[in-house]
Amino acid sequence: KSAQMLARQAARESNARSYPRRLPIAIDEAHGSFVRDVDGNVFIDFLAGAGVLSLGHNHPELVAVATEQLGRLTHGLDFPTPAKEAFTDAQLSMLPAAMRERTKIHFCGPTGANAVDAAVKLCKTATGRGDIVAFRGGFHGASAVGMALTGLVEQKAPVPNGVPGVHFFPFPYAARPPFGGTPEDCGRLCADYFENALRDDHGGVALPAAVILELVQGEGGVIPAPVEFVQRVRAVTRELGIPLIVDEVQTGCGRTGTWFAFEQYGIEPDVIVASKALSGLGTPVALIMYDKSLDVWAPGAHTGTFRGNQLAFAAGAEAVRIFRRDRVLENVREQGERIGGLFGALRDLPWVLEVRGRGMMWGIELVDPLDGQPDGALARAVQDRLLQEGLILETGGRGGGVVRLLPPLNSSSEVVETACRLIIDAVTELGA
Ligand code: PMP
Repeated sequence: KSAQMLARQAARESNARSYPRRLPIAIDEAHGSFVRDVDGNVFIDFLAGAGVLSLGHNHPELVAVATEQLGRLTHGLDFPTPAKEAFTDAQLSMLPAAMRERTKIHFCGPTGANAVDAAVKLCKTATGRGDIVAFRGGFHGASAVGMALTGLVEQKAPVPNGVPGVHFFPFPYAARPPFGGTPEDCGRLCADYFENALRDDHGGVALPAAVILELVQGEGGVIPAPVEFVQRVRAVTRELGIPLIVDEVQTGCGRTGTWFAFEQYGIEPDVIVASKALSGLGTPVALIMYDKSLDVWAPGAHTGTFRGNQLAFAAGAEAVRIFRRDRVLENVREQGERIGGLFGALRDLPWVLEVRGRGMMWGIELVDPLDGQPDGALARAVQDRLLQEGLILETGGRGGGVVRLLPPLNSSSEVVETACRLIIDAVTELGA
């Protein structure tokens, strides 16, 4: 049935469809960490809607509040509503205490790219400047601005004439030339470059309107930024008066073991971009949060029809309550240690360049041991075999050579262990 449904869709849907090509199943139903295809096969889902389903599929309590909300009010534009107020309170309550009082929230909608667009536009309005600094290997969405800021040429090669005024600076990636050394050494080099380029009158970069950064590059191949690099980027941007946008679309909502990844870096961004897992239910919602000093837009300066999704608000407020009650962040940290420990078995394999992760965001970078080039074919073979064995996960990074995991954050130790053992066996046997 899956094969027939895939063929019917392929005849009508755009050639750009991607997941069904790499994961050729048609999905019928899902609960928690498991999905069932239309043929009745059950899979562990470590893609989790591209990191969206932080509490698993169809969490019963989120379904209950969303169902109740469905009969009350679904679309609220940007009017105040009880669901929106509860959601706003919940989001602000998850910020570090020192930031809560001086943070403003702007609802964008419906996707992460919309929020990236808004963050950039806000910083341009606030500074009156036009250029943006982004990082090599970064990903910020498939909108025109999001693509312009994206450092993955593979993804944007077919789009000539990107938006001008974006400068790509090196992001610490110790495993790959021209870097090498430890992540910390690499972070120092990149921080030196960052600082010099922005301070040098001959550096070719006018004082930018903003710097946009992922703290763990997700689509780029799960590459965590070293702490010192991020702290120096923060120090330099603060000194030069450049707003720092931290894109937490993928790292946010607990994915890395704290509600926001920036909490692990001892920094405060000027603008936070969040989306994916905000509602916990996959109901689209996106927002930016920023310091009050950046609240410069005139009323109506930035609009959007779909920024009042009440189902997302109701579910998102409930998701925060569940995170606290069920100590989900603790589970993320515990499972993160479990995953890192189990994957230790892979580190010495010649075709495993690196195993990297934070919390429940992990990547295994596979290479051809002869030339060190990314081995996208091996990553795909691992993905194919795991699908056959009942585990869904994603690939990404340079040349598609990184096997990526984004499990639901409340996955049990049993599920995590089962999945990791399947992954270890697949990587070990297929690479040999
Ligand atoms: N920023 C980051 C860091 C992302 O990972 C993504 C999506 N993968 C986006 C922005 C874009 O989000 P969306 O696909 O919802 O537009």
